[in-house]
This record gives sequence, C-alpha cells and structure tokens, in this order.
Amino acid sequence: MTESLTFAAIPHASPTPAGTRAALIEKPDFGRVPTDHMVTIKWSVDKGWHDATVLARGPFQLDPACAVLHYAQEIFEGMKAYRTADGAITLFRPEENARRFNESAERMAMPVIPEELFLAAIEELVRIDADWIPAGEGGSLYIRPFMFASEVFLGVKPASEYIFCVIASPVGAYFKGGSKAITLWVSEHYSRAAAGGTGAAKCGGNYAGSLVAQAEAIKNGCDQVVFLDAAEHRWVEELGGMNIFFVMDDGSLITPPLGTILSGITRNSIMELARAAGHDVREEPYSFDQWQADARSGKLREAFACGTAAVVAGIGEVRHAGGSFAIGNSGDGPVTTALRDQLVGIQRGNVADDRKWLHGV
Ligand code: PMP
Repeated sequence: MTESLTFAAIPHASPTPAGTRAALIEKPDFGRVPTDHMVTIKWSVDKGWHDATVLARGPFQLDPACAVLHYAQEIFEGMKAYRTADGAITLFRPEENARRFNESAERMAMPVIPEELFLAAIEELVRIDADWIPAGEGGSLYIRPFMFASEVFLGVKPASEYIFCVIASPVGAYFKGGSKAITLWVSEHYSRAAAGGTGAAKCGGNYAGSLVAQAEAIKNGCDQVVFLDAAEHRWVEELGGMNIFFVMDDGSLITPPLGTILSGITRNSIMELARAAGHDVREEPYSFDQWQADARSGKLREAFACGTAAVVAGIGEVRHAGGSFAIGNSGDGPVTTALRDQLVGIQRGNVADDRKWLHGV
C-alpha cells in the first residue's frame, strides 16, 4: 500500500503574489517566512501510511488530548534545497536525512516511513514551491520534515496514529554576523543528553531541554551553547544545533564520537572531505580542559562548528563561567575555509560532485 501511495494535490487557492514573494525571499529571517504549501501523510495502526496530500499551508486542528501535546512524541529533520547556477534544484544527501529520521522514529517508538515516501514528500513540496527557493548567494529553501503523535488519548504509550508533515521556508545566512567567526558559551551546569537517553535522536524534547542553556549563551553575548557530557561535565559533546571540529597544529582534526550527540550529515561530509584532502580525522573524546590548554599553547589552530543551517562556522572565542579564551587568530583559519568552500561549492554545483551527494529534483 505504502509503496504505491500517490499524492493528492489541492494547490493553494490564492498563492502569494510574485512581488510579495520576492520581497519576502530577499531578506528572510531564519524560519519565519512560510511558503504556500505543505505535505501531510497520515499513519495509523490499521491503515499504515495513507492520505498523502499536497495542500495549502495552514494550521492543524488538534484535540487538547492529542498525545504529542503531553508526552512530546515528535521527531524532525532539517535540510536545504539549493538553486544551482544553471537553474537546477538540488537537495544535499536527502537519503541521509531519511535514514536518520527513521533512526529517530525507532528511538521514540514511532513508525518508520519508507525512504522513498519520505523523499517523494520532500520533492512534491519543493516542486510546487520551487519559486520560493532564493537564487542568490547564501540563500536556500530550508525544509522541515516532522512527525508527531496525533492520537487523542491521555495514556502514556506509543500512539496509534501519527501525522508526517513537510513545510519549508526560504533562508539566508544563519548567524546574524554573516560569515564572521562565532563565539561559543560552554554550559557547565546544564547537559543535553546522557548515555541511554535520546541525544542521538532528532526529537523536539532535546531542543526544549537545550533552550535555557542557549538563553544563557545569548545572555553572555555568545552565538551558541556548547554542551559537555552529562556524566562528568568534562568532555565536549556538541552545540545546541551543530557539531564541532578541532584542527590541530599537525593538520589533524578531532571531533567528538557518536553516542549521545546527533550524527550530523555535515559532520559526516566534512570527515570524508577532510580525509580525502589528507587530514588525519579522529572521532575521539576531547575534554574542555584540553581545549583550553591547546588553545593557549597554540596546539589548537582552528575550531569550527558545522550543520545544515550554517554549513561551517569558524569559532573565534569561547566563554565560560570562569573566563574566556580565543582560538587561533580568532578568524576563520585556512583549514576551516578550505573545507567550507569545498562543501558549499559541492552543494551549490560549483565544485564537482564526485561522491554523488546531490539529488536533483
Ligand atoms: N547537532 C544538533 C543538536 C543539531 O540540531 C544539528 C542540526 N541538525 C546538528 C548537530 C548538525 O546536523 P546536520 O549536519 O545533519 O544538520
């Protein structure tokens, strides 16, 4: 049944006029500008995946006892559609988002969605809202697939009904400062994830729990929070919404190992590109103490954060309750810059896609 699912299309009766759309795309505030459409697919124990529909974007009507409102059974993904110089529309490694979405689903006791259905839903939305993809440098269409428990029931158990939905929003540069190096706040009090918990899943609850730490970062003039491990508050894990890499003086790269962190698709791509460029890349624990010592001694040359939203962002300064330290020359170093240029170049169709990471729509 699911394999042959076709999408019913109920296009928007009065889509955003071209002039208004152009003005909205020009200076998009991350995630605030909705496109005209969305895709929804339902799942129930009895019917499996059914009712795939492309329709005008609009609110859901939810019963107050809808399970997600109480027990947060919800997962999501984040990816981008790019318009390449020759006008083509591409997605970057969307199969990886499909795979990770299903890993999150399994962790949260939710149904998995066939990869081809996940991809078809995204392609349907990107096609119908193609005019919303910014053409300019740095712009893209951010795509947000998500799924939530829609069963109306107050008992604590995996729900028997879910809604999968895809929405999109045109975006520009993620950090307000554009591409200048970012400043991080190390949270020594709050942790994000513990062994055996949900840290590796992309579930809403992880982000709800991170907000107070991110607010602390902002209050201290920083762009993003860095979390340490929950058991010892010693090992660097990841940022609120990005993974982290350290570039050492011998040209090697270190990034924290998987387990309690999100397995970033950008992280994975960077590891592959860095290894191909001859860098030794190690997934190994790196302590906050070592980070400070290496930054001071100069053994640490560069550090950068990476993720779909900002792609690669150099880290210039790190602040914490006990002080602060700078990294390298506090700007983007040569390794950070080379890796970013290569990855952005592939995503935008300006560098050969030897690994077949691009998925045409
Ligand atoms: N860590 C967290 C907590 C995130 O939310 C994200 C963004 N998805 C990442 C890392 C980076 O993952 P990706 O490169 O797949 O966007």
